[in-house]
Amino acid sequence: MIQTAVDQGVAIDRHVADAVPFELVIFDSSGQIRWANAAWDRLTEHRVFSDATPSVLTNYFDAFYSVTHGRAGQQEFSRIVDFVRLTDERVAMNYQIRIRGGRWFHVHLQSLTIDGEPLLLATHVDISDQKQREDFIRQLADVDGLTNLTNRRGLDAFLTNEFNRAQRIGHPVSLLLIDVDHFKTYNDRYGHLAGDDALRALARALNRFGRRPTDLVARYGGEEFAIVLGDTDRKGALTMARRVHRAVAKLHLPFPEGPDGRISVSVGAATIYPDRSSRPDGLIALADTALYTAKTEGRDRVVAASEGRQTPR
Ligand code: GH3
Ligand code: MG
Ligand code: MG
Repeated sequence: MIQTAVDQGVAIDRHVADAVPFELVIFDSSGQIRWANAAWDRLTEHRVFSDATPSVLTNYFDAFYSVTHGRAGQQEFSRIVDFVRLTDERVAMNYQIRIRGGRWFHVHLQSLTIDGEPLLLATHVDISDQKQREDFIRQLADVDGLTNLTNRRGLDAFLTNEFNRAQRIGHPVSLLLIDVDHFKTYNDRYGHLAGDDALRALARALNRFGRRPTDLVARYGGEEFAIVLGDTDRKGALTMARRVHRAVAKLHLPFPEGPDGRISVSVGAATIYPDRSSRPDGLIALADTALYTAKTEGRDRVVAASEGRQTPR
């Protein structure tokens, strides 16, 4: 039986090629497909290969880019292929790409000479599951377990990103640091578990202030929260800081030692128009100074500080 199968070498190659769980496609330097397996057919939803006409049926770039970025990505991809084409046969190239619908593929490109003709072999392996796991783990790593807000790590990454963007386009970026007043006393009085509940309630209230894609609400650490406000000037930051302060007062979390018998927060608001020399740390330090002033001036209040250009564009 096996012997018979081996005699039908060509047919076996075809069976194997169609059985493997990844796309195999051979094409020339202009992208014309010379051969592809069944998985490729399924991916592109085109019949790019059929046993009846195993000739040129479509173009690799067109087909692949119909499921990826469209024409825009094609140019970039051509450059990759040019690179592979110009180097010797042993050179291969690997990259990862996301296709329409959210699936991820690892692409392995390799030059191949068949009957003296230089061709390219592309292998696509679906790595969507792996990507999903990575995203999940990254998300876990960036989320605070108690409040479900972004943690310090996620905040740093977001702030750096927002800061760089603001630097490029000359926009201001603001940061609010929010610290619960006399929270040690609260814990001493009601216990740590009640303290945790209060932090969760505060987090829920604060989270409503992160509506824009350029905003982020995070747990900075302990009983301190941070809100990044991208594209927000000093005036806007002060307005937001006052709203945050009022929202906490409205929660009216009972605390006899607090003002009106409730938990209060102090808010330090800072705004920077980043230039080449400014760093995210500078914004944090500025907000921290404002927060410190709010504490020393009696707590349960907002203090704002800013650096750089004062008037919004
Ligand atoms: P201030 O008004 O100056 O901010 O006083 P404070 O008591 O809030 O400041 P301090 O920094 O002395 O104390 C912060 C307290 O917050 C200490 C700690 O008991 C409490 N805390 C920090 N993280 C947590 C937490 O995850 N859960 C609970 N329950 N308490 C926390
Ligand atoms: Mg504190
Ligand atoms: Mg505190």
